[in-house]
Amino acid sequence: MSRDPHNKKPAATRFVNGASEVLTCAPGAADLVGRIPGGAVAMAGDRILAVGSDSEVAAACDLSGAERIDAGGGIVIPGFVDCHTHLIFPGSRVAEYSARVTGAGPEDLKNLGIPTGIPATVRMMENASQDELIESALERLGHMLRFGTTTVESKSGYGLSVKGELRMLEINRRLQNDQFIDVVSTFLGAHEFPEDRSRERYVEEIIKEQIPAVVEAELAEFNDVFCDEGYYTVGESRRILEAGLEKGLKAKIHTDEYSHMGGSKLAAELKAVSADHLNYTDDDEFALLRDAGVIGVVMPGLDFAVGHSRPFNARAMMDAGMILALATDLCPGCWLESMPFVIQLACRLYRFSPAEALRAGTYGAALALNREKEIGSLEPGKRADIAIFDLPQYQDLAYRLGRSGARTVIAAGNVVHTAASQG
Ligand SMILES: [Zn+2]
Repeated sequence: MSRDPHNKKPAATRFVNGASEVLTCAPGAADLVGRIPGGAVAMAGDRILAVGSDSEVAAACDLSGAERIDAGGGIVIPGFVDCHTHLIFPGSRVAEYSARVTGAGPEDLKNLGIPTGIPATVRMMENASQDELIESALERLGHMLRFGTTTVESKSGYGLSVKGELRMLEINRRLQNDQFIDVVSTFLGAHEFPEDRSRERYVEEIIKEQIPAVVEAELAEFNDVFCDEGYYTVGESRRILEAGLEKGLKAKIHTDEYSHMGGSKLAAELKAVSADHLNYTDDDEFALLRDAGVIGVVMPGLDFAVGHSRPFNARAMMDAGMILALATDLCPGCWLESMPFVIQLACRLYRFSPAEALRAGTYGAALALNREKEIGSLEPGKRADIAIFDLPQYQDLAYRLGRSGARTVIAAGNVVHTAASQG
């Protein structure tokens, strides 16, 4: 954008105003959520051109040819960034969930003949058609969009073979082209162990066959492992993450969800982009993660869906100076598409303030995907991903439980969702 005073002001294509408040969630703002009472956002094509008061935005750009989007007295926030999901899966595990909520344990489920956990989904995956996988993922993405989400990370991990993992990552690419949410692809060959090969052989397969194939086809940006008791050891996780780093896949780790094995220390040592779950992480490890710049991704919805007995300690993480991100962890064990619901749980059960939760679901989550220069806040030059909610102030996102479909969602400068009626 030229600053030459003889040049005309840059022309906006669309602008939003009529808001109760705009929350930029920008780093460096005076408060955590960058609150601008009233406020307006102007866009040119897929980019944000100006953010500020009505008069500031009118001074910064030419609005004469721009389409006006009325915020209707609601709040205007960056589109949510859902930075940890297992979006692609066949069918559902509703029978398992229904039995577990009344207290059924592993033996009961076995006696009832209900297949459980990741292996159940892996078996369903083998028989699922491509169309079923794409259609069901598109349906979930549609719900996510209506809840104000404009970026979703999507992991493989139900294939557990070269062919099966590549198939999931190819679906990510297809989803990226077939709908409005930006899909960020993560390889998670180390999600579980297959039933027909030895542990050692499968780790070798991930390192020597899966990672090279994923990199060759440019199908993923991140490499993730499930480092926990009953899953991958710290040693196996290290080998897999290092093999990915060597080939340019950035590291993520599921760790400390059900045990404390040292996965957080490994994340700090490898400078992973994020460490996710963190229920059993020690206080002294929070400082290690902070110093290594590892974003802590916490998922209140997953803990809610599995009735987790050990809450993660978000306040201690924040007190230690860690940067946190919130995500749904959408998967067959936690069928959750709504970031507002995640914010509601984070505030009431994990002592986030509404400002901390909003920040963690937008800018914090963008950091957890290495996308903070592109998305996660409303700033000139960033992608115009915007959600508008019919709420008088942002704290109502946390307060009005289970309400929270978006009024309007804008992705890359286009209006991609408008609520049918506002009540
Ligand atoms: Zn996960």
